Order: sequence, then C-alpha cells, then structure tokens
Amino acid sequence: MKKPVIGLTPLWDDNMGNLWMLPEYCQAVSEAGGIPLVLPADCTREEAAQLCSFCDGFLFTGGQDVAPKLYGEAPEPVCGPDCPQRDGMEAALFQAAYALNKPMLAICRGLQFVNVMLGGSLYQDIPSQVHSGISHNQGKPYHIPCHRVQVLPDTLLAALLQQDAIQVNSLHHQGIKALGEGLVPMAVAEDGLIEAAYAPDKPFVCLVQWHPEYAKDWVAQRLFAAFIKAANTAAS
Ligand code: MN
Repeated sequence: MKKPVIGLTPLWDDNMGNLWMLPEYCQAVSEAGGIPLVLPADCTREEAAQLCSFCDGFLFTGGQDVAPKLYGEAPEPVCGPDCPQRDGMEAALFQAAYALNKPMLAICRGLQFVNVMLGGSLYQDIPSQVHSGISHNQGKPYHIPCHRVQVLPDTLLAALLQQDAIQVNSLHHQGIKALGEGLVPMAVAEDGLIEAAYAPDKPFVCLVQWHPEYAKDWVAQRLFAAFIKAANTAAS
C-alpha cells in the first residue's frame, strides 16, 4: 500500500542561518506509517498549493515564537525571538492546506501558529502573564511528563484516548490567550491554559502544546496514528 507523504515545516537555526530537523518528528511519522518530507524554507502561495496536492498531510513543528504583529500586538520584552522566514512560509502553507481540508498535526509553536492564523492570540510569556502554579518549561529530559491536563469530553482527543486526564511534557513559554475561530479546546492544564485544540469542521486539524515526538508514549502513538490514518484517508 502506498504510504501517505507528510510535509514537515523545517526548523530554522538563527545562529547558523541553517534549516534543520529534529529526527524525532521524522521517526514519529515513519513509525506511524507515513513518509516524512522536510519542506523548503520559503514558499509562495502557488508553491504552497502545489505542495498541498503533493503531500497528504502536514506537520507544523515547534520552534521560535510567532511574531506578535501577526495577532495585532507589539512584542514585549518577555517575548522570545521570532522567525520571519517560518512565519511567512507557514502562513502560505497553512492557508492552502486548511482551505483544502488537509490533515494537519501542529505541535507547540505549531499550535500557537495555527491558533494565530485562525485569528487567535497568544500569551507572549506564561511565567510573567499567567497566574500559574505549574512550570510549563521543564528542561531536559524532554520525554518525561511534568504536568497534568484534563481531557475535555466529546472531543477528538477524548475519543482517541478514552481518558479524563493525562500527563504531558511541557517545553513552552507561550500559550493560547484567545482561541482562534473554528477551534475547540480539547485539553486544559490545571492553571486553565489550553493545551490542545482541534477544528471539528475539518477532517483532522489537531493542535497540541506538548511534545508527543519526544514523549513517545501511548498518547503520542495514538495521536500520530490518528494523523497518519487521516492522511491516508485524504490520499485515497
Ligand atoms: Mn504545558
């Protein structure tokens, strides 16, 4: 059987001026039955449309902070460095992929970026802007879960996991402030922060704030399996 091709948004190293990719993202896609394909750093709207006809699904990876101007705010000193290359390329890709109902999994920055593309906004820095008793930035080792999230009933995640709550890892200092249009929360941390959301009107648009590619646990396996299954369905 032909495997679905999953386009991965590349990571960008500001110091080196290099594109790069974490092998964990590729491994997770491969192990779930897809072919990971790292995308270029730039793409026009026309190229994004062509990539959409070539790829069966898209993984929006983690990385730099989304530029606050994309959600109508000025950057505050607590905001981290943004990445104009990624913001530009991913905007073209997201708009094409969303319009064509392509399956997508968005992780960490990916969740934040998709939320902003759909009109939502972000906390520029959780430690200074959210009253929270939990740490969302655990440091190494990255695969160990560090906080709990409640899984909201009647959501994609509840259907996949059949659990009321799970433990997740956490490597982020930003998070969803206002939720984007068409998105529904499906997991919430104990401080109220939305840790996962999805678009119920789309075949598979799944956003998670944690890092399943590092966790490699049963939750991660189910997320990637559902993503690849949706990509397979879209491909056939
Ligand atoms: Mn977290």
